Amino acid sequence: MNRVWELLNEADTVVLFDVDGTLTSYNYGEYHAHHELDFTPQFRDVNIYADCKRLLPMYNYIQKHGTDRIFCISKEPHGHEQWKSEMLGRLYGIPADHCFYTLGYDGKPVIAQRIIDDRFPGLSPEKVVCIDDSDTALEMYMKQTRFRTAHPMIFMEHITELV
Ligand SMILES: [Mg+2]
Repeated sequence: MNRVWELLNEADTVVLFDVDGTLTSYNYGEYHAHHELDFTPQFRDVNIYADCKRLLPMYNYIQKHGTDRIFCISKEPHGHEQWKSEMLGRLYGIPADHCFYTLGYDGKPVIAQRIIDDRFPGLSPEKVVCIDDSDTALEMYMKQTRFRTAHPMIFMEHITELV
């Protein structure tokens, strides 16, 4: 039986969310999931986060848990950090100084460890959950840290508890 849901509902658990595909639906284009300009130089000038919709199960969870123990760790190679942080504040109330960025997945476990060491020294790693839709990122968290991991669909499994 999966025990991460219980852990996510304990008040002192620290939750580290991925952003794209976790706190957004990843439907950035008009007729495609990827924005049609992705992989072009012009993509850097497009705020794909302006139209993002709040994902209600995640929003309800974050409201209930409080943002003091919620952080975001996002891969951002396109220079969209500021637009992404603005969206996370607007849709979820997550403060900009809780949003961290890395150029590649391999930076995620390092950032996660640094957040815990800096802001929650002494906290048991068993009280930290990293949530990501990328199996590459989930595997890195599992192999390189002692934190717990979850895929964002866990919030859909428990959607009726999140109203
Ligand atoms: Mg993702």
